[in-house]
Amino acid sequence: MLDSPGEILLSKSALRNNLRFFRRQFGKDVLLSSVVKGNAYGHGIEVYGPLALECGFEHFSVFSADEAYRLYQVIGKAAPIMVMGYLDDAAMEWAIQEGIEFWIFDLHRLKKALSLSKQLGQKAKLHLEIESGMHRTGLERKEWKPAAKLLTEQKEHCILKGICTHFAGAESISNYVRIKEQKRVFREALAWFRRQKLEPEYRHACCSAAAIRYPEMCYDMIRLGILQYGFWPSREIFIEFLKNRTDKRSPIKRLISWRSTVMSLKEVDAGEFIGYGTSYFTGVKTKLALVPIGYSGGFSRSLSNHGRVLINGKRAAVVGTVNMNCLCVDISEIPNVKPGDEVIIIGKQGKLELTVSAFTEMSQQLNYEALTRIPEVMKRSVVE
Ligand SMILES: *Cc1c(COP(=O)(O)O)cnc(C)c1O
Repeated sequence: MLDSPGEILLSKSALRNNLRFFRRQFGKDVLLSSVVKGNAYGHGIEVYGPLALECGFEHFSVFSADEAYRLYQVIGKAAPIMVMGYLDDAAMEWAIQEGIEFWIFDLHRLKKALSLSKQLGQKAKLHLEIESGMHRTGLERKEWKPAAKLLTEQKEHCILKGICTHFAGAESISNYVRIKEQKRVFREALAWFRRQKLEPEYRHACCSAAAIRYPEMCYDMIRLGILQYGFWPSREIFIEFLKNRTDKRSPIKRLISWRSTVMSLKEVDAGEFIGYGTSYFTGVKTKLALVPIGYSGGFSRSLSNHGRVLINGKRAAVVGTVNMNCLCVDISEIPNVKPGDEVIIIGKQGKLELTVSAFTEMSQQLNYEALTRIPEVMKRSVVE
């Protein structure tokens, strides 16, 4: 059935559903940029990119040039690609030549971009990042003037695609005061650049959480990361979203499921240790199934004797230590398990569902980290 010991499946209908919700929630006029950094939040950039394009996304954001390159290989010029972070000089040359958009977060890079554009005879597509209070990257207040001067003098060498910023933790209300100040600085920057006759095609500031919490800041583009995959940025944002709604169900659906297969079965008498060492001792006669996913495949060793998978619509507990390439589960209470049966590690089977947070034993807030840790080597495919 499977040609690799595990497989990640992405649901097209779930993504279609999520996009319909975004259109209702954010309106038709705002451009949605699909954020596919971190291997598309573990969904696999080469599979997810074309899927997102097919379902209606018209713009993509990545962190670094290597991610842009991988995406470009599969979608070409079908939609603009924007690099929000790292790009070395060689990569910048490539980006300018291929029309890849990128963020300018300091004056040094602006000069570099303009001189490279001149040299290549090709206009760089720039997004000016404003430092509004996150203190990570972005043009400081005192850099606005020299930046504006450079952009005005060398207008013919670049296209001002965007002016943007990023909020420091919109998913938690504890950052409210900090973000209020960021909003003020960003508004001031937009007004200031407008007075210098520098108007970008897109003004953008919002990630998923900010788009839900601060809809007045959505402007022309939302950089949509975690929401598109069907996860809320935090529990708090979900609760805030539900506040004025009668329907308390989540309107978004998760795309991802992760499945494997039963490799072999075994019966062990009471009083035996299972697997390496002595961490699990059978109190009664126990039926076991071996699943060919281990810590090298992204199933953490810390889930030894803790993790759960689904087989035949029922939960099966991990027993003993998670090995490098396999793990063992107790199927004593699950009838009719056969080699080749489907094993769900993340996702639904019958009436039950294992979520990413259950899989990692982490809180909802760390879905980001859990998702991006799903190994890149795992095979991924799209299902209806
Ligand atoms: C990751 C990222 C986003 C998307 O964040 P989500 O919370 O996943 O929506 C948006 N903007 C920037 C600059 C980012 O780095």
